[in-house]
Amino acid sequence: MALHRISGRIFEQQSSDYSDCELVVDGDRAFVHSGAIKQDIGNLAQLKIQARLGSFAQKITLPDGRVFETEDLDAVEQLRPGGFWNTVAKTEKTGWHLIPLAIATPFMAFGLYKLMIPVLISMGMSITPDQGLYALDKSTLRTLDRIVLDETELTAERQDELTTVFNKLLAAKEKTGSKSDRNFKYKLLFRDAGPIGPNAFAMPGGTIVVTDDLVQEFDEDHIIAAVLAHEIGHVDSEHQLRQVYRALGMWFMITMIAGDAGEILEDALLEGSAVLSLSYSREHEMGADNYSYDLLKAADMRTDGLVGFFDRLQKNYPLPKKGEWAMSHPVADNRIENIIERIIADGGTPPDRNSDTPSDGDDGTKSDEPVKEE
Ligand SMILES: [Zn+2]
Repeated sequence: MALHRISGRIFEQQSSDYSDCELVVDGDRAFVHSGAIKQDIGNLAQLKIQARLGSFAQKITLPDGRVFETEDLDAVEQLRPGGFWNTVAKTEKTGWHLIPLAIATPFMAFGLYKLMIPVLISMGMSITPDQGLYALDKSTLRTLDRIVLDETELTAERQDELTTVFNKLLAAKEKTGSKSDRNFKYKLLFRDAGPIGPNAFAMPGGTIVVTDDLVQEFDEDHIIAAVLAHEIGHVDSEHQLRQVYRALGMWFMITMIAGDAGEILEDALLEGSAVLSLSYSREHEMGADNYSYDLLKAADMRTDGLVGFFDRLQKNYPLPKKGEWAMSHPVADNRIENIIERIIADGGTPPDRNSDTPSDGDDGTKSDEPVKEE
């Protein structure tokens, strides 16, 4: 039997001391090889593999409490239920006669997946209570705070100003009505996200996180307002929940056939990082952009913020790294055109896209409005 080797490092319990090593899987046993020392650490099923979080290093908690960390994300995927090495391990335990089934399973799952996925998504969404969304927000935030987010360095004054903008948008939403029957708990949080850069992300229950870099690099209220309205649009259209179920659907189908579905679902939901690694579809992006436009208009605020945002984002971040805004919210030229078309359709004047200087004293209101109401 071939061995599955993953290079990484091992952290001692409750310590930041680590040493380079290899995690080796042989059948259903796992070993740590460090130099000439080979240590049997137990059954593959006893490894606690953290949910994948974008392109960040992956952690695996060993039965003895030590943590193995690696950048070889693909190799780790193979250890998960449904992954190749996990399937091999199960097969070894249960008998070689199951090999044809093990080979057929992914194909069966994929065929079923395509047919079943829309059904699973709407089923999952309809049975998820609002309380479930709040729990998902909480666990997602906890995971993010542990792994990538730090306390904000924005002044309390700036936070208050932006919270006022946010509340103004929510008040306008009361006027325009909600798309969803759910009772979202909208909450705006600020965090320093280091390498993630300028970004904003919404969680399914209504928690919206804005990074310090977004506020600092796009320091104009009308731009931040447009981004916030866009995120409110994702929440109110239940885009995140839909994406969570889409991602879970694939795992679910595989594990339903291979077993352990409950455990996987629980892991993915509680760990919460599923939410982070998802990116929206172009359709969702366009939907959230239009939602943003409508909401800004209802709030009597400038409606051209997204144009300035996308222009500057494309100029300063032409090749987005993983985790950045453009990875999770794909930017396309037609999104800029869409907003401009809507401004023109409303009888307004589109923004001057060649000037990149922030306007003075911009408080997000329509003092130098490009849009005229009919
Ligand atoms: Zn988006």
